[in-house]
Amino acid sequence: MGKSSKDKRDIFYRKAKEEGWRARSAYKLLQIDEAFDIFSGVEHAVDLCAAPGSWSQVLSRKLFLPALRAGNPNPPTIVAVDLQPMAPIEGVVQLQGDITSEATAKQVISHFHGQPADLVVCDGAPDVTGLHDLDEYVQAQLLLAALSIVCAVLRPGGTFVAKIFRGKDVALLYSQLKMLFPEVYVAKPKSSRNSSIEAFVVCRRFDPPPGLAGPGCALQALLAGAAEDYFNTAAAEEEQAAAAAGGGAGQGTGQASGRGGVAPLLARAVPFLSCGDLSGGDADRTYDLDPATYVRLEPVQPPTAPNYKTAIALAKGAGGGGL
Ligand code: SAM
Repeated sequence: MGKSSKDKRDIFYRKAKEEGWRARSAYKLLQIDEAFDIFSGVEHAVDLCAAPGSWSQVLSRKLFLPALRAGNPNPPTIVAVDLQPMAPIEGVVQLQGDITSEATAKQVISHFHGQPADLVVCDGAPDVTGLHDLDEYVQAQLLLAALSIVCAVLRPGGTFVAKIFRGKDVALLYSQLKMLFPEVYVAKPKSSRNSSIEAFVVCRRFDPPPGLAGPGCALQALLAGAAEDYFNTAAAEEEQAAAAAGGGAGQGTGQASGRGGVAPLLARAVPFLSCGDLSGGDADRTYDLDPATYVRLEPVQPPTAPNYKTAIALAKGAGGGGL
């Protein structure tokens, strides 16, 4: 698959190169901002799972650079974290680390010098295996790790945006997020392919229960409690559905104990919003390029430490016989 065919296949891939973004993901954050105005009033922001850095570029261009141009002596602090190294971005402090480790969380916190963040974004994704249940589970674990950092650094009232995979138990995540944020939305930017189960939660007005803010918070207990409620409710709903199917509608334990019915379903529902300009291009379409005017552009930032470098080194070490 040549580079120009990728340009054709993916309008956002091409556009990202034209506009100087390191990855097409930049448009996802920009389109979420168009719908939710997430950058307004933000002075301190954290970008979790940031490499190769297009979301950090968005934060830099939207927050840091305008403040710098306006001569603001205290421009916004932006801290970006990833397992992978990243090439520098103006106004972004970069940390290399695992967001599931406590040491990384502490490092992020240390950069805020007691000032809480207004916005935390997380575009984390594990290496996808194609086994949907496993991928969804690992993705959810990344999001829960991000939530620990959120509890330690986000100010009450702040915003959290994170990638999710909309799998079978995604409603559990919604219930857990709703324990910390009264407003939870699911956004699907136009730049995110329809064919992908990826979407983004936009969580607003951070309102942690007492004792939950700050490092070492009791988040795990809260999330475990939410999970228990979720699975109990799901079990009650299944029981009720089975009773209904067996002709005993309304006789199941779920209803008798006040569970089941539409109330729990509504409590777990979150508004879904498709965002981004409809005329801005279709992420699932292949576009024709005019051969007379087409110019191949190099990627804005080649990967700093791609896995294929290790693979090539290993292959060479093994006598160059290939992998
Ligand atoms: N938002 C980025 C951008 O716009 O350039 C793209 C992020 S990419 C989809 C997902 C990133 O998650 C990868 O760079 C990967 O290294 C990172 N990641 C996955 N697991 C991580 C972990 N446990 N800690 C830190 N980063 C992680």
